[in-house]
This record gives sequence, C-alpha cells and structure tokens, in this order.
Amino acid sequence: MDPFRLIIDGKKVPTKQCFEVLNPATEKVAGLAPLATREQLEDAIRAAKVAQKSWAKETERKRQTACRRIAERIEAHAEELAALLTAEQGKPMGGLGSRWEIGAAIAWTQYTASLSMPPKVLQDNNEGRVELFRKPIGVVGSILPWNFPVMIAIWHIIPAVLSGNTVVAKPSPYTPLTTLRLVELMNEVLPRGVVNCVTGDDDLGPVMTSHPDIGKIVFTGSSGTGKKIYVNAAETMKRMTLELGGNDAGIVLPDVDPKQIAEGLFWGAFINTGQTCAALKRLYVHDDVYEDVCEELVKFARKMPMGEGTDETAMLGPVQNLRQFEIVSDLVADARKKGRVLLGGDPPARTGKKQGYFFPLTIIADLDNGDRLVDEEQFGPALPIIRFHDIDEVIEKANDNPNGLGGSVWSRNITTARQVASRMECGSVWINKHGMIQPNAPFGGVKQSGVGVEFGQEGLEEYTNIQVVFS
Ligand code: NAD
Repeated sequence: MDPFRLIIDGKKVPTKQCFEVLNPATEKVAGLAPLATREQLEDAIRAAKVAQKSWAKETERKRQTACRRIAERIEAHAEELAALLTAEQGKPMGGLGSRWEIGAAIAWTQYTASLSMPPKVLQDNNEGRVELFRKPIGVVGSILPWNFPVMIAIWHIIPAVLSGNTVVAKPSPYTPLTTLRLVELMNEVLPRGVVNCVTGDDDLGPVMTSHPDIGKIVFTGSSGTGKKIYVNAAETMKRMTLELGGNDAGIVLPDVDPKQIAEGLFWGAFINTGQTCAALKRLYVHDDVYEDVCEELVKFARKMPMGEGTDETAMLGPVQNLRQFEIVSDLVADARKKGRVLLGGDPPARTGKKQGYFFPLTIIADLDNGDRLVDEEQFGPALPIIRFHDIDEVIEKANDNPNGLGGSVWSRNITTARQVASRMECGSVWINKHGMIQPNAPFGGVKQSGVGVEFGQEGLEEYTNIQVVFS
C-alpha cells in the first residue's frame, strides 16, 4: 500500500513516518497517511506566505475562474473521491452519503466562485470621498473535523482562495486521505503554494493556531477544541471563524400530521448517522401528538438500512471512530436508566474482532433536560424525545443549553412556527425541516457553538480585513 503524500508548494512531499487510517466499517487499514514533522508544517506555512503575495495581486475574475476550474476537477474525479471518502469515513456511497457530499462540494465551490467583493463608496461629496476595500488577510490555517472531510474543506478553502488568501489545511487524523487528494486536484489548477495540505496528529493544530505567519484560523470541530484554539490564537490576534458543536432542538407543535413529518424528522436527526453539527439532537414533542410522532418516527427508522458504505443499499454507515462510538454508548447507557427505549439502544459488545463501529439507530422517549443524552451533544445515531405541554416551557428548555447552532419548529401553521422560531437562541432555524444549509445563506452558531459565519457574502467577507481610504 503506497502512502499518501503531503501537498506543499505544489509538490507531493513524502514523510519519514506514516500512520494508518482505519475504515470504520471493517476496522481494516483504508490507507497510509503521511505524518508531517513540525519542519514540514513550517515549510507549508512558508510556501503559503510566499504564494500569497502574488495570489493577492491577481484579479478577482482570475481567482473566480480558478475556483470554477477546481469545481471541474472535483467533478471529473467525483467517483474516485467518493470511494476514498467511504473507505476512510465510513459513510455510504449512496443516499446522503459520499456521492452526495462530493456533489455538495462542487455546488458550494461553484456558488462561492460567483461571489465578488467590489469596493463600496461610503461617501462622495464636497467633503471628500470615502471608500471601503476588502483585503485578504494573508495565510489562512484550516483545521478540519472527520464528519464531512471534503465538504468542510471546501467551505474553508474556496472563500479563502477567492478572496486572495492562501491556505494551509490540516485534516482530522481520522480522515486525512480524501482531503489530501482534494488538495492535490486543486493544485492542478492553482499556482503552487496557494493551497497546501499537511496531515499528522493533533500536535500540528496548536502550532498553527499560535503561528505568527498565519493571519486567520477557520476551525470546524468540537467546542472543547474550539476554546483551546481561541485562547491559543489570542497572542497573535488572529481572525477567527469557529464552527463548533451543536445540540439542536426540534419543537413539534400539536397541529402536525405525525406521518407526514416522520421522514423529515428522521433525516434531520440521523443524516450522516447523526454525526452532523446541525443535526436535530433533542426532539421536543407536544403531548397531544407525542405517542403518534414517536410511533411514526420509529416506523420510518426501522426501514432504514445501515451497512458498509460500499453496499449500495446502505443509507447509514458506522460511527466514524471508536472514541465517538464510546461517547455514544456511554450516553445511551445513561439514557436507558430512565427513558423508554423505542428503538435500538443496545450496541453489539466489542469482542476484539474487527466488527466495525456500527451503532444501532436508537430512539429513546420520556427523557428531559437534565438527562445527559439531552444536555450533551451525542454526535451519533441516538435521539432523545422529550414531552412538553406548554410553548413557553418548551422554548425555555430548548434555549437552556450552552450551544446555539440550529433549531427547528414543526407545524402546519407557518405564522405560529415563525413566532416560535424567532424565540429560539440559535444561528439557523428551519420550519418543517432541519439542517438544510445552503451556500447562499450564512451559517454559524451563537453562544458556545462558535464565532462568525460561513457561506454567502457574509461568510466570504470573514476572509478579509476592511481598509477604508479617505481622499
Ligand atoms: P475535534 O475538535 O476533536 O477535532 C477537530 C480538529 O481539531 C482535528 O483536525 C484535530 O486534529 C484538531 N485539533 C485537536 N486538538 C487541537 C488543538 N489543541 N489545537 C488545534 N487543533 C486541534 O472535533 P471532531 O471530533 O473532529 O469533530 C466533531 C465535532 O465537530 C462535533 O462537536 C461537531 O458538532 C463539530 N462540528 C461542527 C460543525 C459546525 O459547522 N459547527 C461541523 C462539523 C462538526
């Protein structure tokens, strides 16, 4: 098995040491990733710093064209990337799995490539002319998680590059391979040094977040790591976009048709086997429809096949890694003591055989705030359901969490749903759906779910500093 290489200054760079990346469905080695040294990370930052000077001088149109050409490269290699993604991440090829993720990466790239940031004239009169310019920050450090290693890399890299920055990307040690290949494809159309990719263990991250030559960090990952990054980056006063954990509440009002909403609730909660930042992670259901919603949701969930990602009939895959499998197991074991298990709840014992990190779809009713599965982010295929009677009470419970990424309201009455939505403390609220992010709408968390937004014009502008010229 040939090891993958780092991508530094437009070249494929070997490392002395490699590490094994496991396929979570089989626990067999999916590939060998390069273990970068501190010096190699420094090389990547230096290459990005040199390249940034000339990249920033290119016209916006030229950078837009380069981004469109990246989309074409991804499209030309879509099936190859999807297969590699399934091998290291575990998600199915079909459904909302690897092919879908690669398709979304293309769509995000194409949309972002159409954005522009012309100067704004703030004043032009007898007293003078005042213009606002958006200037690139410099080198952007992108630190990535393991749940959507391609799509999130695109979210970080494309707006950075479009706005005249250069990038050093560091994928999660659990899923480095597809991102390395993605950056290799980008290098077919970009000048050398504009996008670099360095993989290794968690020690690389702190070097990036404290490095004086990195002007901005864009990070997607857990709130715990996000807080460390915030502290570590303070000394060099870096610009920051932090997309952190979520514990999204869904509120089901009494006028819904339970059968009709079951599919939307299911995918809101279980997309990517629940390993999605803005998935529905706590479901509050009004007493009038509580039992019916539970029944319809379980009925729908029972039909959803889970399996190895290469099985084209699979709609859900394993949990991505053993650490996450254990987090989900622990939360579910705790929830079982009090709640009513409607589905799953009983993961197979770890016998020492290579059996994959498959955790059965789990739905547990009759829980409440104060229970760990409700209060903590599960980031896996286990959904708690909570009964409510009163709208003020449920809004208070939905907001009683340090996270504030997304939320949803389910009702036939859109006016009522919008009123409830406006009272939820979160960055995005969906009505009769959940987690449907799109490239033209800014996305980000409030409270401890993050700092700043991604996507759309507002997301793009976060990769720039403002300069105002008075003449
Ligand atoms: P993680 O925080 O464990 O790791 C993320 C990345 O940070 C990895 O690349 C890791 O190597 C790196 N890292 C670890 N320690 C570091 C440090 N001290 N300094 C700098 N970098 C460091 O997160 P994860 O387990 O990969 O991802 C799961 C979490 O990500 C969940 O909480 C989920 O909600 C969140 N997430 C959020 C979004 C969003 O947009 N808000 C999207 C996806 C995932």
